[in-house]
Amino acid sequence: MQLELDGFASVVTGGSSGIGLETARLFLSAGASVAICGRDGDRLGAAEDELRGVADNDRIVAERCDVRDPAQVSAFAAAVEARFERLDILVNNAGHGRVSTFEDTDDDAWRAELDLKFFSIIHPTRAFLPLLERSSNAAIVCVSSLLARQPEPHMVATSAARAGALNMVYSMAQEFAPKGIRVNSVLVGVVDSGQWRRRFAESGGDQSWDSWAADLAARRGIPAGRLGNPQEVARAIAYLASPWASYSTGTAIDVSGGLSRHV
Ligand code: NDP
Repeated sequence: MQLELDGFASVVTGGSSGIGLETARLFLSAGASVAICGRDGDRLGAAEDELRGVADNDRIVAERCDVRDPAQVSAFAAAVEARFERLDILVNNAGHGRVSTFEDTDDDAWRAELDLKFFSIIHPTRAFLPLLERSSNAAIVCVSSLLARQPEPHMVATSAARAGALNMVYSMAQEFAPKGIRVNSVLVGVVDSGQWRRRFAESGGDQSWDSWAADLAARRGIPAGRLGNPQEVARAIAYLASPWASYSTGTAIDVSGGLSRHV
């Protein structure tokens, strides 16, 4: 059975790396058009080149855009409307986690983390809502973290911000249901992506990635015994974004290899 998104138009924020890039690749393979954004022009350009290997250029848009800036998000939305003239799927994925304890986190860091986790959803959702309202299969998928339900003291600000944002997403699902727009989340555990590769590089040891990642999985006690890969998250996103999930809204899929400890 093949996921069919022929004729759909989608946006994946933070589609230039990791989970977002794999999601964009999967959407293109399923027949959708995809617009990605990110802040770093080189990373965005490299991702666009990769995606051109999957689909024709006319199904791909890549725009520099910081999702924290409403003016940049509005310009991105205008570019998407000009090219695709429609939107069916919005994936709010852009961002990264912050590793810090309560003692290590000053007010500026708290504000930055709350700003990113909330406004990376608020700005794109607001900007793309008019287009989504015109779709008969509209879906928003928010890439969140297991930390939203299972906080970790070494990521105190990210955990708290994710919990609040997940709460907000549930309200959005209720509010948008009469408009026919579904809103769901994926709760990611520890998944191999750009941010983990950067942490590995910064660790500066002489371990290989495979051995470093295996140690990380063991330290975190991941029952699956390994990190997830971005394709595994992309598949959960694609399911929630597609008409296969037509009766699901205001819910979340856990993609954490069994790390979740709550019923
Ligand atoms: P990556 O670093 O590989 O990808 C993050 C993407 O987001 C990049 O394209 C990056 O591009 C973009 N981005 C970051 N900040 C902004 C911004 N302000 N505006 C626009 N684009 C932005 O990491 P992941 O794939 O891991 O991250 C994807 C999502 O998954 C994030 O929200 C992350 O918090 C979440 N997540 C990931 C987990 C994991 O273990 N990998 C665990 C839990 C949640 P650029 O930097 O050029 O802007």
